[in-house]
Amino acid sequence: MQGAMMHRPLRIIDILRHAAEAHGDEGIVSARVEGDLHRQSYAQTLARAAGLAHALTALGMRTGDRVATLAWNGHRHVEMYYAISGMGAVCHTINPRLSREQLLYIIHHAGDRLLFLDLTFIPLIESLLSNLPEGLRFVILTDRAHMPETTLDALCYEELLSAQPGDFPWPDLPEDTASGLCYTSGTTGNPKGALYSHRSTVLHALQVPICQTSSFRAGRRILPVVPLFHVNAWGLPYTAPLAGMTLVMPGPHLDGASLFRLMDGEDVYSAWGVPTVWAGLLAEIEAQGRIPQGFGDLLVGGSAAPRVMIDAYEARGVNVAQAWGMTEMSPIGTHGVLPPRYEGARAEDLIAAKCCAGRRLFGVEFKIVDDTGRRLPHDGQAVGELYVRGNTVISGYFENPEATHAAIDAEGWFGTGDVASVDAEGRLVIRDRAKDLVKSGGEWISSIDLENAALSHPAIAACAVVAMPHPKWDERPVLVAVAADTARPALEEVQAHMAPHFARWQLPDDLIWVEELPLTATGKISKLTLRERMADYVLPELRGGAA
Ligand code: ADP
Repeated sequence: MQGAMMHRPLRIIDILRHAAEAHGDEGIVSARVEGDLHRQSYAQTLARAAGLAHALTALGMRTGDRVATLAWNGHRHVEMYYAISGMGAVCHTINPRLSREQLLYIIHHAGDRLLFLDLTFIPLIESLLSNLPEGLRFVILTDRAHMPETTLDALCYEELLSAQPGDFPWPDLPEDTASGLCYTSGTTGNPKGALYSHRSTVLHALQVPICQTSSFRAGRRILPVVPLFHVNAWGLPYTAPLAGMTLVMPGPHLDGASLFRLMDGEDVYSAWGVPTVWAGLLAEIEAQGRIPQGFGDLLVGGSAAPRVMIDAYEARGVNVAQAWGMTEMSPIGTHGVLPPRYEGARAEDLIAAKCCAGRRLFGVEFKIVDDTGRRLPHDGQAVGELYVRGNTVISGYFENPEATHAAIDAEGWFGTGDVASVDAEGRLVIRDRAKDLVKSGGEWISSIDLENAALSHPAIAACAVVAMPHPKWDERPVLVAVAADTARPALEEVQAHMAPHFARWQLPDDLIWVEELPLTATGKISKLTLRERMADYVLPELRGGAA
């Protein structure tokens, strides 16, 4: 028997319509590329998205067409998210930190017809112009007064909008209609596209706040440092308006001092981003001797949150939660909210609980398997590759059957490439990315665990552990570190500091001091680049020909 309930398709635009009607006091504050601090309500955002949808229609965009964005976090980018998907087209967010080759690859692979770009990225696109698809049109995200001289035959965004009406007959799209396209940052090979739908996006927006309860409360302000140009800023352009929160957008300035100033002036309660960004903010907090006004909640994801970082923020009264996810999952798969029994818990128990990657969101299932694909128990001990399944997980890569075949198993689950365990309480512990694990003498060592221990040494500000080849052991760990100050302790001292947490054979064989660590296009430490830089590296024990 069928239930007798209405069926309305899940549409992204309805999130913004809801915010405009139910949360009239909230909206978007944007530090813009032009240098000003811009404010608009969600009602204004909806009206501007409607104007943009008219403009897109006038420019010939139709259902399923890919419209690309190359922009920082700001209100115009949010308008594009809603207008493009709302009129039935697909919003392809481009990560400007990809290599030139990768940028060209994804623009061609996506079949983009129109590209909206911030002023910052004009030189980049000018330099790629001769290799871009013929017929690709450009819109520059600014007003007439700020339009620069450019070799691009480009339209002006504000001019395009000013002539348009403030409402739009948003079509009743089937909820499985494609809405957004985001490519992985392609650490190996070409980037692969995750093609989100209206349904997956709305479900993700509903799933996250119901679990990650510490970050969401109507009337509060939330800062996505995680970019709109990668994995939908972890869904915040959808979850924030849905939950009635104002988005505070940092634009291009992501250093600690700029973030501190913006958060302090705008009373930001919750801030979301990768650990490298929070290390910068922490340095500014230490310099100023206080946290930004109103700051109470920090969500760290994208890489494991280092224990010392969790500790430092918690000690200053900021609640830290960790989330795990990936581009292929819309992207969040876990939440880091702890049950009430942790209130008043010993600091070390609290921090230990926060060091794991959290529990699964409703709608995301986990499966841990061994090398033969056999399921392993969720007992906190068994470690294997993590597979996921759910309405917010990709069913395959966009127009890429080979990559799809490699990622989806016979039962239809998606292989994350992460090596993990799940404990009896449902907590996920990411031990490593499969390709970052150090395989030594038939055993493996977690680079994340070694990095966490090394980072608790006061002389180390940032570090990465990479596997280096060894003829007998296969691989051995090497610690690459950035000094906090002038002190550069010897390997033995750092080993001694780490020793209580590891077996002797697990400790790094060498310590290399560097000025800075290379970052990926998503702002994480790039072990791939490090390994490339260390292509000629020889372990100390093997130098001089001795094996
Ligand atoms: P990129 O390939 O640019 O890193 P993603 O954002 O899709 O793109 O990265 C997803 C990966 O990031 C995951 O597979 C996992 O390895 C890592 N990751 C994300 N969150 C966490 C976390 N909280 N702890 C450990 N690793 C994480």
